[in-house]
Amino acid sequence: MALQQHEQDLLDRVQSGLGIGGTWEASSSGATFDVQDPATGETIKSIADATVEDAVRALDAAVAAQDAWAATSTRERSNILRRAFDLLQERKEEFALLMSLEMGKPIAESRGEVGYGGEFLRWFSEEAVRVRGDYRQNPEGSGNILVSHLPVGPCYFITPWNFPLAMATRKIAPALAAGCTVVIKPAKLTPLTTVYFAQLLEEAGVPAGVVNVVPTSGSGAQSNALLSDPRLRKLSFTGSTPVGVKLLEAAAGNVLRTSMELGGNAPFIVFEDADLDRAVEGVMLAKYRNIGQACTAANRVIVHESVADEFARRVSERVAKMTIGRGAEEGNEIGALVDDNAVATSARLVADAVENGAEVLTGGQAIDGPGHFFQPTVIDKLSPQAAIMREEIFGPVLGIIRFSTEEEAVEIANNTEYGLISYVFTENIHRGHRMIEQLETGMMGLNAGVASNAAAPFGGVKQSGIGREGGAEGIHEFLSTKYTLLPR
Ligand code: NAD
Repeated sequence: MALQQHEQDLLDRVQSGLGIGGTWEASSSGATFDVQDPATGETIKSIADATVEDAVRALDAAVAAQDAWAATSTRERSNILRRAFDLLQERKEEFALLMSLEMGKPIAESRGEVGYGGEFLRWFSEEAVRVRGDYRQNPEGSGNILVSHLPVGPCYFITPWNFPLAMATRKIAPALAAGCTVVIKPAKLTPLTTVYFAQLLEEAGVPAGVVNVVPTSGSGAQSNALLSDPRLRKLSFTGSTPVGVKLLEAAAGNVLRTSMELGGNAPFIVFEDADLDRAVEGVMLAKYRNIGQACTAANRVIVHESVADEFARRVSERVAKMTIGRGAEEGNEIGALVDDNAVATSARLVADAVENGAEVLTGGQAIDGPGHFFQPTVIDKLSPQAAIMREEIFGPVLGIIRFSTEEEAVEIANNTEYGLISYVFTENIHRGHRMIEQLETGMMGLNAGVASNAAAPFGGVKQSGIGREGGAEGIHEFLSTKYTLLPR
C-alpha cells in the first residue's frame, strides 16, 4: 500500500541524519536502517544508523555545550521550553501522524500523546524558574547551612517505542530546565518522532550541542561506550526491566545517577461496591489504550465474584465492537501492534491462559497480514498459574481473575515483582484509603483508568523502577544537591 501524499510529505520533512552538535549528518559507517509502518510492514523511511564513534561524538558535543547551557538564566531556559510547547501545539497533527505511521497507534490516541507529551514542556518551563535551595542554622549555632541545587551535567537517555514523543519530552524537558545537556537514543522501531522533535527544539532556540540524537539499529555497544565514559553524569532509561538491569550494571562502574522507568504488571481491582459504569470505562482505557502496549496497561483485572459476570459481559460487548485498522487512518480504535513478536506474545499468552482453564469471551486470534494485528480480546476465569499473571502482555488482551475477599484481592495484586501502577474501583472511601496504603505500587488510579499527568510524579517501586518523572520531583532527577557550610 503506497503512502498517501501528505504522509510522504511529512516523512520528507523529517531529517534522516544523526543530530550531533547542531548539524544533521550521516553515520560514520555510512549505514542506514529502515523504519516500517507496522500496519503494512512497509518501509516508510531509512535513517542514519549511529556507530559507537558517532555516539561518542554526540557526547563530545553535549559535554562541550554543558557549561554554557548551565550558565543560561533559568528564565531563558524557561522561555525556550515554552516556545517548544507552543510550536508543538502548532504541529500537533504532524506529530500525531508521524507517531501513528511509525508506531501504529490510532491517530486519536497519537493526538492525545501530543497533548500529554507537550505538557512536560509547559510544566518544566514553569518549574525551571522555581528551583530553590535552603538556608538554615546548624543546631550548634556556630554556622549556617546553605543547600543549593546544581545541574548534574551531560545525560544519556534511552527511550522505548510505545510512546515515541512523551517518553522523550518527559526526560528532555526537565533536563533542559535543570541546565543539563542530552544525548538521546530513541528505540530503533520509532526513531522518527524523536528526530522530528529535536528539529522542533532547534527551532525553539535550543543551542547546538544541547540535545543530540543518535538513533541506532544496535542496542548494547553504543550505550556501553557512553555509560563507561567518565564525562557522562546521568542515565535515564525507560524500557523493560531486564534491559534496565543490564544498564544499571553498566552504569555502576561509573557510579552514575540513574532514573529507571521499567516494566509493569498493573492490577485493576473492581470491588463489589464499585460503580460498574466507571469501572467499565476505566478498564477500556487502562487496557486498550495504545493497543495494550503501555507500562501502565491493566495486566490483571481482578474482579469481585459477585459482579464479575456482569462486568465481563459489559466489557466483552464493548470490545467486540471495537474498530480495527491502520492507526494513521481516522476512526480505528485498535491499530497494529508494533511487530510480529508482539503478535506472537499475545497469541502465546492467550493459548497458555486457555490451557490453564480460562475462557475466551471475545477475540483471541492474530489477524492475517499485512501488518501486525491481534484481535482485541477478553478472557475470563484466569487461573493463578497462567503466564499472564506474571508477564507483561503488551497487547490488547484483557484477563479477568475473580476474588472473594479484600485480603485476597490485595494478595493477588501484590503478588508480582513489579510495582508501577494499580487501579482500584470502589465507592467506599475507607477501602480506597486502605488500598493506597496496601498496594505496592508507585502510582494508583482510584476510580480512574488513566493516571499520567505532567504535574504528577510518575514512577514505580519494586522492579518497576527508580526515580520519578514529572511533577515537582521530576526536575530534581537532574539536579545535584550541594551543601555549603557558612561559619559564623
Ligand atoms: P526495551 O527494554 O526492549 O527497549 C527500550 C530501549 O532500550 C530501546 O531504545 C532499546 O533499543 C534499548 N535497548 C534494548 N536493549 C538494550 C541494551 N542491551 N543496551 C542498551 N539499550 C538497549 O523495551 P521496549 O520493548 O522498547 O518497551 C517496552 C517496555 O518499556 C515495557 O517493559 C514497558 O513496561 C516499558 N515502559 C516503561 C515505562 C515507564 O515509564 N515505566 C514507559 C513505557 C514503557
